[in-house]
Formats: sequence, C-alpha cells, structure tokens
Amino acid sequence: MTINQSGWRPEMTPGAGDAPATFTGNRALMLEEPTIFEIGSTDTTGVDFADGDVAGSRLGDLTRKSAIGLPGLSEPETVRHYTRLSRQNYAIDLGLFPLGSCTMKHNPRLNERVARMPGFADVHPLQPVDTVQGALGVINELAMWLIKLTGMHGVAMSPKAGAHGELCGILCIKAALEARGEGHRKVILVPESAHGTNPATAAFAGFAVEDIPATAEGRVDTAALKARLGPDVAAVMITNPNTCGLFERDLKEISDAVHAAGGYVYCDGANFNAIVGRVRPGDLGVDAMHINLHKTFSTPHGGGGPGSGPVVLSEALAPYGPLPYTARTADGYVHLIEEERAEEFSNEHFGGKLDSFGRMVAFHGQMGMFTRALTYILSHGADGLKQVAEDAVLNANYVLRSLENTLDAPFAGSGPCMHEAIFSDAGLPQGFSTLDIAKGLIDEGYHPMTVYFPLVVHGAMLVEPTETESKAALDQFIGALRSVAERAKAGDPALKSAPHYAPRRRLDETLAARKPVLVWKDAPVAEAAE
Ligand SMILES: *Cc1c(COP(=O)(O)O)cnc(C)c1O
Repeated sequence: MTINQSGWRPEMTPGAGDAPATFTGNRALMLEEPTIFEIGSTDTTGVDFADGDVAGSRLGDLTRKSAIGLPGLSEPETVRHYTRLSRQNYAIDLGLFPLGSCTMKHNPRLNERVARMPGFADVHPLQPVDTVQGALGVINELAMWLIKLTGMHGVAMSPKAGAHGELCGILCIKAALEARGEGHRKVILVPESAHGTNPATAAFAGFAVEDIPATAEGRVDTAALKARLGPDVAAVMITNPNTCGLFERDLKEISDAVHAAGGYVYCDGANFNAIVGRVRPGDLGVDAMHINLHKTFSTPHGGGGPGSGPVVLSEALAPYGPLPYTARTADGYVHLIEEERAEEFSNEHFGGKLDSFGRMVAFHGQMGMFTRALTYILSHGADGLKQVAEDAVLNANYVLRSLENTLDAPFAGSGPCMHEAIFSDAGLPQGFSTLDIAKGLIDEGYHPMTVYFPLVVHGAMLVEPTETESKAALDQFIGALRSVAERAKAGDPALKSAPHYAPRRRLDETLAARKPVLVWKDAPVAEAAE
C-alpha cells in the first residue's frame, strides 16, 4: 500500500491556523481511508483453505472463467477499513440531527434489546403459523395500535418505507375507483410543498399530477383546491402537518369537498410525530395515510436500518389493501390471511368485502421494525405518546423563536409551528447562500438541516429537532446556527469555503449530481469484466 492513494492532498484538509500537514494525511484520530480497491490487491488473499478432495465441480459450464477481482484483505485489515469508514459517519448517537421532515429521534436501546430476542430475531417467514404465534401477535398488536392512534378502519402492514406506503395507498385508491367503475379518474392533486415522493408515486401509479398552490401563510390554498375538483380527479395527496411545519387546519373541509366530488384523500403521514396522540387523521376524513415507523416510532433510519411504512385505511379503502393480513380470532389465535384463505376469511370476518389489489412484498414486512415500534409504543403508553407530540412541537417552536431575529422565518407570523421550524435565505448578503450556512454547520460538528426543501420557500432551511433533545442540546445547536448565520451576514469569506475541518473540503455537488462516478475507475472488478 502506498500512502495517500485516495488522492488526499494536504491542501484538502489544512489544519487550523499553522498546523502542519502530516505524513499520513491523518489528523490525530481523524483517519484518512482509501477505498477498499486501493488497499487490497487481487493477488493476495485473506483466507487459507486447505485444498479440498472434492471430486470435481458440479457447476459444469457455469464455473467462473475469469478472476472475480475482489481485493484480498486479511480479517484485521477488513475490520479496520470498515471501522475507519464508520467513524466518518454522522449519526443520531453522535449528536443532534436537525434534518427537517425526517424526524431523526433517538432510537431507544430497549427497542434493540427486544428486537434481538431469539423468538423475534430468529424466526423465518415460511415457518408454520402455529410456531410463530408470538411474532404474528406483535404484527397484529402493532396494527391495532396504529388503527387506534389514527382513528382509521384497517392497516396494511407490509409496505417497507414511506414512499412504498404511498404507492400502497394510491393502489388502494385505484382499485376502489376501478371497483366503482370510475377508473377514468386520472388526476391526483398535490400541493406545491409536497415531498417529491408524492408526485412520483402518483405518476408511477399511472395518474396525471397537478399542482395545488400554497397560500402566503404556507398552507394549501383550499379555494384553489376546491375549484379544481371534478369528475376526473381521483384523489388529493396532502401532508399534515405539512412540510412547512404547519398544521393544515382546513383538512376536514378539504376531505368533505373531495369526497363530495367522488375522490379520495391520501394523507402523507411522515410528520405524524407532531400530532400523535392528539389528532386522529380518521376524524379529518383521511382515506389512506402511511406511517413511517422509522420516523414517528423511533426505529432506526437510513443507514441504520430498513424503513417501514404501514398504511392505515378508511372503511372505503380497507377491503382493497394488500395481502397478507393478520387477524386474531376470538380464541386468541393469530391467522395469517394469504391468497388461498382470503375468500374464506372475507366471508367470515369482513362481510365478504375483502378484495385485495395484490401484494407489496414477498412476506409480511419489516419484522424487526415492527418489534421495535411496538416496544416504543408500549414503553410510552398512550399518555407518553401524546407527550412526544407536545415536546416535539415545543422544541421546534423554541428553535423558531430563538432564531427568528437572526434568520428570515417566512411563516413565523402564521402562529406556532408544529414539529419543524423553517427559515429562508432572505436577508443574506450578496454571494452568500443557504449552502454556505449548511457547510458552516459541518465545521461546528453538526449534520446540516434539510436545505432547499420545501421548494415553496426560497433557500429553505428546515430544522426538526424532535422531542428527544434536551434544552442544553438545543441551546448548543441554536448557538452554532446563529454564529454561522451571523458570519454569513457579516460577509465572512472563510464561510464561502467551509467546511474547513471535515475529511474533505467543499465538493462540487453539481458535478457529482450530473456526472456521478458510481464505479471505482481502476477497480479490478471492472478489468475482469472486460
Ligand atoms: C420521509 C418522507 C417521505 C418518504 O418516506 P421514506 O420512508 O423515506 O420513503 C414522504 N413524505 C415526507 C413528508 C417525508 O418526510
């Protein structure tokens, strides 16, 4: 291995002040790490197997003819490589994670403990139903909680993320419309402030997407929405609380109008954390809403674990939800309702109405996430969940009011915010942008907040602190953001080239997005493939 094959140059990460560049490129315990193809060689191997006495390969023609091209590293080299990389991650276990619309809350260790119990962790989805009654009971009990918390009629547990849940909900709407003979309704109305997954889902499911404008105070323009309703509209997709951090107060009125016009209401429930235990979307006329267990119910997020996006359904849509279902009968037994049993169960328990559109996944969904989410719910109880919402809203308002005199807060006059505080780049001097503030926060040791989303706010900065941050942690974050914003307002040129202390300096993000390099150019794998 030669030093600095990763292309590191001293000027990429100059030390503070006159600190000298080091021989290794490392700065104390901040370690440089090349890619695995640079440190490993295809000529070496980390394993030493005795030649077997197997009579010959049973693969026949399928035997690989060229080298596989994987770098051969020893076990300690491999462990070090991945451990070094893992130390360059920012994680909720390291510090406050202000990403708006993401609900980056603490993942309680109790959840992890329960999810690792062998009775949950070591079961297989193809085991006979009698042998996994406990696991199926977890799915069923979580389903009951989600129905109760949302005031809805049924829930599809299997979708594996929020966006997957959106697809599930929209497919239910499509199936319900087709069952009514109204498959010609092809338009889905989506507010301008929506998360990109909403219009993407509608388009993917074959609908035409039309924008609904926002009012100056950051909410859906109810009059414009009502004016657009008609016989071609299948549904509206509304986020509540919305991505400007505001509660859509007109949702009941909107739902009534949409239903009167023959459409359905899809609610993006990603921000449910702000209202859990306080508002039941079912009371607002919602027909389908996904719940991100990895947001509201504290299961790990992003690189920390798979998502899970159960979809609660109204009485009108529940019969069309995807299989499988779980159902606990009076004798306490939890049944798994798959295709072959759907009709029997439909007649016995669903008044003959079950008419599933199909399946979303091979098995039952993200079992580990179900276990974590139910653990979280049971450890909080109904009163604790209500307090989660109250504390999350309190924390976001604390951030909003602490910074509204430093950064432009476009909706600060619309009343208290919900779970997240939104700021804009208005008032920053010529040449300074939201991006500079985000990069300055990295030097302060924070993952930046969500930037440039939602699109309705110019240079948006969306901060969602969540309820799990203490006042001391919030004060530290607020102090850092205020300091960076004041440096921008004072025109500090050093901010334009931040970050200064990260493993890499400012990257050309436009180039990275336009011309992503997804394969290591000198990778032996690429050579072998030629
Ligand atoms: C996170 C989020 C989604 C998508 O959820 P995933 O689980 O990431 O697929 C959709 N809408 C909003 C408002 C979100 O914040």
